[in-house]
Amino acid sequence: MSDNYLTVIPVDPYWQPSKDAAGRAAAVLSGMLPDDDARRGLEAKWHDSVEVVDCGANLERISCPHCAAELTTDWWAAAVSERYDAGFPTLLGRVPCCGVEMSLNALVYDWPMGFARFRIEVPCPDRAWLTDEELASLADALGHPLRQILVHT
Ligand SMILES: [Zn+2]
Repeated sequence: MSDNYLTVIPVDPYWQPSKDAAGRAAAVLSGMLPDDDARRGLEAKWHDSVEVVDCGANLERISCPHCAAELTTDWWAAAVSERYDAGFPTLLGRVPCCGVEMSLNALVYDWPMGFARFRIEVPCPDRAWLTDEELASLADALGHPLRQILVHT
Protein backbone atom coordinates (compact mmCIF):
# COMPACT_ATOMS: atom_id res chain seq x y z
CA MET A 1 0.00 0.00 0.00
CA SER A 2 1.32 3.44 -0.80
CA ASP A 3 0.95 6.55 1.29
CA ASN A 4 1.06 10.24 0.54
CA TYR A 5 2.00 12.98 2.95
CA LEU A 6 1.98 16.73 2.67
CA THR A 7 4.71 18.08 4.96
CA VAL A 8 5.86 21.62 5.66
CA ILE A 9 9.21 22.39 7.29
CA PRO A 10 11.00 25.61 8.29
CA VAL A 11 13.50 26.84 5.70
CA ASP A 12 16.14 26.94 8.48
CA PRO A 13 16.73 23.27 9.42
CA TYR A 14 17.59 24.09 13.05
CA TRP A 15 14.70 26.47 13.73
CA GLN A 16 11.80 25.47 15.99
CA PRO A 17 8.58 27.40 16.70
CA SER A 18 6.88 27.91 20.06
CA LYS A 19 3.87 25.69 20.79
CA ASP A 20 1.60 28.69 20.22
CA ALA A 21 3.05 29.51 16.81
CA ALA A 22 2.90 25.85 15.79
CA GLY A 23 -0.74 25.68 16.91
CA ARG A 24 -1.62 28.75 14.85
CA ALA A 25 0.10 27.31 11.77
CA ALA A 26 -1.58 23.92 12.25
CA ALA A 27 -4.98 25.65 12.40
CA VAL A 28 -4.26 27.58 9.21
CA LEU A 29 -3.10 24.44 7.41
CA SER A 30 -6.15 22.56 8.64
CA GLY A 31 -8.34 25.19 6.99
CA MET A 32 -6.63 24.49 3.65
CA LEU A 33 -7.58 20.82 3.65
CA PRO A 34 -10.67 19.65 1.81
CA ASP A 35 -12.43 17.65 4.55
CA ASP A 36 -12.29 16.11 8.02
CA ASP A 37 -10.73 12.90 6.72
CA ALA A 38 -7.73 14.88 5.56
CA ARG A 39 -7.65 16.96 8.79
CA ARG A 40 -7.74 13.97 11.13
CA GLY A 41 -4.09 13.02 10.79
CA LEU A 42 -2.60 16.53 10.81
CA GLU A 43 0.21 16.65 13.34
CA ALA A 44 2.94 19.09 14.43
CA LYS A 45 6.16 17.29 15.38
CA TRP A 46 9.31 18.50 17.15
CA HIS A 47 12.57 16.57 16.80
CA ASP A 48 15.56 16.79 19.18
CA SER A 49 18.02 16.74 16.33
CA VAL A 50 17.77 17.47 12.64
CA GLU A 51 15.93 14.85 10.61
CA VAL A 52 15.88 14.16 6.89
CA VAL A 53 12.45 14.95 5.48
CA ASP A 54 12.60 13.11 2.21
CA CYS A 55 10.00 12.90 -0.52
CA GLY A 56 10.24 9.12 -0.93
CA ALA A 57 9.54 7.82 -4.41
CA ASN A 58 8.96 11.35 -5.68
CA LEU A 59 12.71 12.05 -5.69
CA GLU A 60 13.94 12.22 -9.28
CA ARG A 61 17.11 14.27 -9.15
CA ILE A 62 19.51 16.03 -6.78
CA SER A 63 21.67 18.73 -8.31
CA CYS A 64 24.18 21.39 -7.35
CA PRO A 65 22.80 24.94 -7.03
CA HIS A 66 26.23 26.34 -7.93
CA CYS A 67 27.15 24.51 -11.17
CA ALA A 68 23.90 22.56 -11.87
CA ALA A 69 25.69 19.19 -12.06
CA GLU A 70 23.63 16.18 -11.03
CA LEU A 71 24.74 14.57 -7.76
CA THR A 72 24.51 10.81 -7.32
CA THR A 73 22.23 9.43 -4.65
CA ASP A 74 25.20 7.33 -3.44
CA TRP A 75 27.22 10.48 -2.74
CA TRP A 76 24.21 12.12 -1.12
CA ALA A 77 23.37 9.12 1.08
CA ALA A 78 26.98 8.88 2.27
CA ALA A 79 27.11 12.61 3.03
CA VAL A 80 23.86 12.40 5.01
CA SER A 81 24.76 9.29 6.99
CA GLU A 82 28.15 10.72 7.97
CA ARG A 83 26.44 13.77 9.47
CA TYR A 84 23.56 11.73 10.87
CA ASP A 85 26.02 9.55 12.82
CA ALA A 86 27.45 12.73 14.36
CA GLY A 87 23.94 13.99 15.31
CA PHE A 88 23.84 16.62 12.55
CA PRO A 89 25.99 19.30 14.22
CA THR A 90 26.31 20.73 10.73
CA LEU A 91 24.83 20.22 7.29
CA LEU A 92 27.79 21.81 5.55
CA GLY A 93 29.75 19.80 3.05
CA ARG A 94 31.78 20.14 -0.11
CA VAL A 95 30.00 19.01 -3.27
CA PRO A 96 32.07 16.71 -5.53
CA CYS A 97 31.19 18.50 -8.78
CA CYS A 98 32.61 22.02 -8.29
CA GLY A 99 34.05 21.73 -4.77
CA VAL A 100 31.91 24.51 -3.29
CA GLU A 101 31.03 24.20 0.39
CA MET A 102 27.31 24.45 1.06
CA SER A 103 24.52 23.11 3.25
CA LEU A 104 22.98 19.82 2.19
CA ASN A 105 19.70 21.67 2.71
CA ALA A 106 20.65 24.07 -0.10
CA LEU A 107 20.98 21.40 -2.80
CA VAL A 108 18.34 21.43 -5.51
CA TYR A 109 15.95 18.58 -4.80
CA ASP A 110 13.48 17.57 -7.48
CA TRP A 111 10.95 16.99 -5.96
CA PRO A 112 11.62 19.15 -2.92
CA MET A 113 12.92 17.66 0.31
CA GLY A 114 14.94 19.00 3.19
CA PHE A 115 16.11 18.80 6.78
CA ALA A 116 14.23 19.93 9.87
CA ARG A 117 13.78 19.85 13.64
CA PHE A 118 10.09 20.67 13.24
CA ARG A 119 7.44 19.65 10.79
CA ILE A 120 3.70 19.71 10.28
CA GLU A 121 2.62 16.58 8.54
CA VAL A 122 -0.68 15.63 6.90
CA PRO A 123 -1.14 11.99 5.88
CA CYS A 124 -3.47 11.54 2.90
CA PRO A 125 -3.98 15.30 2.41
CA ASP A 126 -6.36 14.67 -0.51
CA ARG A 127 -5.08 17.78 -2.29
CA ALA A 128 -2.10 18.89 -4.37
CA TRP A 129 0.66 21.41 -3.58
CA LEU A 130 -0.16 24.45 -1.48
CA THR A 131 -0.24 27.56 -3.62
CA ASP A 132 2.40 30.27 -3.07
CA GLU A 133 -0.26 32.36 -1.31
CA GLU A 134 -1.24 29.49 0.98
CA LEU A 135 2.39 28.74 1.83
CA ALA A 136 2.97 32.43 2.56
CA SER A 137 0.01 32.70 4.93
CA LEU A 138 1.11 29.51 6.67
CA ALA A 139 4.60 30.99 7.09
CA ASP A 140 3.03 34.16 8.54
CA ALA A 141 1.17 32.10 11.13
CA LEU A 142 4.32 30.19 12.06
CA GLY A 143 6.63 33.20 11.98
CA HIS A 144 9.19 31.58 9.69
CA PRO A 145 9.39 30.82 5.94
CA LEU A 146 8.46 27.29 4.94
CA ARG A 147 9.32 24.66 2.38
CA GLN A 148 6.65 22.14 1.40
CA ILE A 149 7.33 18.52 0.59
CA LEU A 150 5.01 15.98 -1.02
CA VAL A 151 6.01 12.54 0.16
CA HIS A 152 5.08 9.41 -1.74
CA THR A 153 6.06 6.13 -0.08
ZN1 LIG B 1 28.65 21.98 -8.36
